[in-house]
Amino acid sequence: MDEKKTDMRALMLPWLAYGHISPFLELAKKLTTKNFDIYLCSTPINLNSIKNRITKKYSLSIKLVEINLPILPDLPSHQHTTNGLPTHLIPTLKLAFYMSQDSFAKILDTIKPDLVIYDFNQPWAPTFAAARNIPAVLFMTTGAAACSFGLHMLKKPDVEFPFPGVRLQGFHKSEFQNIVPKASQENENEDKEDALDAMRRSCKIILYNTFRDLEGKYIDSLSILTEKKIVPIGPLVQEPVLDATEETKTIMKWLHDKPNSSTVFVSFGSECYLSNEEREEVSHGLEISGVNFIWVVRFPLGEKVSFEEALPIGFVERVGERGLVVEGWAPQAQILAHSSTGGFVSHCGWNSVLESLKFGVPVVAMPLHLDQPLNARLVEEVGVGVEVERDENGKINREAIAQVIRKAVLGESGEGVRIKAREFSDRIGMRREEGIGEVVEELVKICEGKLVKN
Ligand code: UDP
Repeated sequence: MDEKKTDMRALMLPWLAYGHISPFLELAKKLTTKNFDIYLCSTPINLNSIKNRITKKYSLSIKLVEINLPILPDLPSHQHTTNGLPTHLIPTLKLAFYMSQDSFAKILDTIKPDLVIYDFNQPWAPTFAAARNIPAVLFMTTGAAACSFGLHMLKKPDVEFPFPGVRLQGFHKSEFQNIVPKASQENENEDKEDALDAMRRSCKIILYNTFRDLEGKYIDSLSILTEKKIVPIGPLVQEPVLDATEETKTIMKWLHDKPNSSTVFVSFGSECYLSNEEREEVSHGLEISGVNFIWVVRFPLGEKVSFEEALPIGFVERVGERGLVVEGWAPQAQILAHSSTGGFVSHCGWNSVLESLKFGVPVVAMPLHLDQPLNARLVEEVGVGVEVERDENGKINREAIAQVIRKAVLGESGEGVRIKAREFSDRIGMRREEGIGEVVEELVKICEGKLVKN
């Protein structure tokens, strides 16, 4: 293990979403063990969402830097995060972030970091860094399989994807429309360019929140496609820190009273919302499955209704002690880490996939959009989950949901999936920390060489 310590200042600029700032924070923590001083720059509301995870150990080496976004009509002034934001306003948030470039430049001039670590939604950040002779490195918070597939389709759409997964190969080109990270429906090409620009502008390497055991062949594919060294630095997963809110205590107490591996956690991340129809199917699916569950039900800002209106009549009474419906947010890492949890009905956001692997919980995959369908295929390919089949119109139905839940949690046919999930968790648990040494070596080389040609 490389014991070389450094003395560098890195400014981090994640996208304004919990699923991005969270792995950035975990990367920050790792870098501080090698004497990096980290300046984590985001909007106040995003910084608030991770404040309680910066324990005393890190409080001197991770500094939070607020960036204020312009107030745009449509975008509620306090809502400078995707969490709770209606999906159609995400392009407006992206625009507001884009318009904060002057503030970003001032922050750079004040902090004078040795390195900028940016996110794919801010392909403009490296330009500001370069103007000050500061190298910038991209940190991708998505998986390598989904990205390599997306890039492959952009660059070589007529060639078969060279690293087929179970059904990855069968993915039709039209489905790809939703895969490359993009925030705008209207200006799709521009957004694809954004993601590509973000990759092109990264200095020599691109960091990925993944690991070779999981995505080795896709990491190799990516380095060919991007012509950069791909440095896997994952899995960067939040620790299940027990926050002491009454709500968390109630949830954990409820879970604690359930038998081992008996309960599914049902959550679709921080940015996705089920349609009314999907919510109805999920409710019935959970009811028919007969399996215990904790379900996080979320509504976008301004669309909140009561559970009575949102869930089928009598649902809460019928499931009784078997189910707990939580509004808005639940301590996902803590729940997944608990021994009573035996399955995760997930949209397959990348953090959720990594968290289920880390805590050894089989996945019932219900991808909704963006990279999630590809992540779900990876989950099946490596054998840690089963996807809920949609019908020919792309709709999910209650029987399919119930069947897959029962298989993953209880059924004999799901034993292999449960074993594989535990194996991944064991392997992750046994990993030594050597990865960070290599990453730091790469970063230090880049900083010392200053603007090494991309
Ligand atoms: N999360 C959580 N509680 C919730 C919903 C989400 O703690 O009720 C966390 C989850 O643990 C993960 C992140 O939010 O770390 C969601 O990231 P992911 O990439 O899975 O999905 P996204 O929100 O980006 O769609």
